[in-house]
Amino acid sequence: MGPGSAGGTGNVFLGHCNLRCVYCQNWQISQDFRAGAGREVQFEELAEMLLQLQAAGCHNVGFVSPTHFTPQVLRAVDIAAARGLHLPLVYNTNGYDSPDVLRELDGVFDIYLPDLRYSDDEAAREYSKAPDYVSHARSAVAEMYRQLGDGLVTDHRGLAVRGLIIRLLILPNGLAGLRSTLEWIRDTLSARVTLSVMSQYYPAHKAAGSGYPLLSRRIRPGEYAKVLEWLEYFGFENGWIQPLEEDAASYYRPDFSNPSLPFADARDFRAGPA
Ligand code: SF4
Repeated sequence: MGPGSAGGTGNVFLGHCNLRCVYCQNWQISQDFRAGAGREVQFEELAEMLLQLQAAGCHNVGFVSPTHFTPQVLRAVDIAAARGLHLPLVYNTNGYDSPDVLRELDGVFDIYLPDLRYSDDEAAREYSKAPDYVSHARSAVAEMYRQLGDGLVTDHRGLAVRGLIIRLLILPNGLAGLRSTLEWIRDTLSARVTLSVMSQYYPAHKAAGSGYPLLSRRIRPGEYAKVLEWLEYFGFENGWIQPLEEDAASYYRPDFSNPSLPFADARDFRAGPA
C-alpha cells in the first residue's frame, strides 16, 4: 500500500485486487503478492498518509482498488477525519463490489469511480477471473447511483467534488461489450450519468504473451469510432472521451518497481476527471 499524487489527486494504491485481469497494467501491485510483503501499514499510518496528501495540496483522496480493504479504509478515514481530513474521498473500483457493503458506505465517499468492464460473464471469467461479473458490477453501480444520482458536482475550479463517474475501458475485439453496457446505463440509470471512456488499452501482463490472442493488440480506430457512435445513439453527453493517440499507450505504462514514482510520464493524469 502506498500513496501517490497524480495531477492533484492523492491516490492511495491498495495492494492486490479482487480481480485477476490478464491484461492488468498494475499487475506488479495487483497480482504479485511478493510486492506488498513488508509494506503493510497500520490504520494510524494510513490515516497519517491521508493527512499528508491533504497537506501536500491534493484536491481529493482516491482509494484505488479498495474493495477488499473497505473496513480498514473506513477505520483510517475515521481517524483522519477526526484530525481534520476534509477532502473529497474517491472510491476507485473495478465494480466487482457488494451492494450490501456499498450501502454501509453511504455518506462516506463523495465520488464513486467504478468500471463497468464487461457485459458478458464468460469474458469476465476468462479475462478477469470474476464469476458473474455483470450482475455483481451492475448491482453495485446501481447502488452507487442510488446514493449519488447522475449529477456531477464541481467546485469553483471545475474539479469534481461529488458524483458518480462510470469508467468504460474499450477492449479490442469488442470484449468489453460496451454497446450492451451503454444500453443498460441508459435504461436502468440515466443517459445523464457521467462517463469516462478510455482508449488506452495495450496488451500488458499475461496478454503481452501468446495466450490471449484477442487481447494481443491495441484498439483500432474503427473500434473506437463504433463506441463514439453508440454514445451518440444512446444520448450520452456528460463525461470524457480519451483521444485515440498513437503514442498514448506509452503514457499509461506504470512501473511499480519504483513505488514512489510509478507513472514516470504522467502528462495525461493532469487532465484526469477526478
Ligand atoms: S481490476 Fe484493475 S487493478 Fe484489478 S486486476 Fe483488473 S486491471 Fe488490474
